[in-house]
Amino acid sequence: ADADVQLFAFAEVDVADIAREVHDIFSYNAEEREQKLQIDVPAHAVITGDAQRLRQLLVILTDNAQKYAGEGVIVTLRVVQNERQTLIAVSDTGQGVSDEDKRHLFDRFYRVDKARSRSTGGHGLGLAIAKWVTDGHHGTIVVEDTIPHGTTFKIILPNKQKGIK
Ligand code: ATP
Repeated sequence: ADADVQLFAFAEVDVADIAREVHDIFSYNAEEREQKLQIDVPAHAVITGDAQRLRQLLVILTDNAQKYAGEGVIVTLRVVQNERQTLIAVSDTGQGVSDEDKRHLFDRFYRVDKARSRSTGGHGLGLAIAKWVTDGHHGTIVVEDTIPHGTTFKIILPNKQKGIK
């Protein structure tokens, strides 16, 4: 992953702004699918990051939540920042993912339920890219259950990158 770091264009970016942008772009889909798309972010959450890649990361997770969680669900984009790090979470109230599938979700080309997945036409690359972007920021990405049901992806990123002002 470290060799890839030079592929990232680091600058001061406001993750709250990016989340608001992605929320606005995906609101239209939510209406069409009778879903709710909620956002819970502070006024600002500035980190050293690659704005374009971070937008891509949030687009992948929001798109997945809307595609796979089904009708009537609530999708929530959340950003929480402390002095050291920033949490980005995308959660849905869909049917969830089995523990066995959770172990493979970030692998390239992995898809749950091939028959259902084929009708939505992906390649199983989105989450591998999401992990690559996270690794490039020296962060961590995990998948958890939403209580009482659904899927939550959590990304924790350091606010600052070593060697970059
Ligand atoms: P691509 O992103 O290449 O178009 P994809 O969406 O299948 O295809 P990933 O984003 O890597 O690829 O997702 C892998 C699999 O994880 C999906 O096929 C889907 O089965 C499952 N998945 C991802 N997000 C969710 C979610 N929010 N709820 C339920 N299942 C999910």
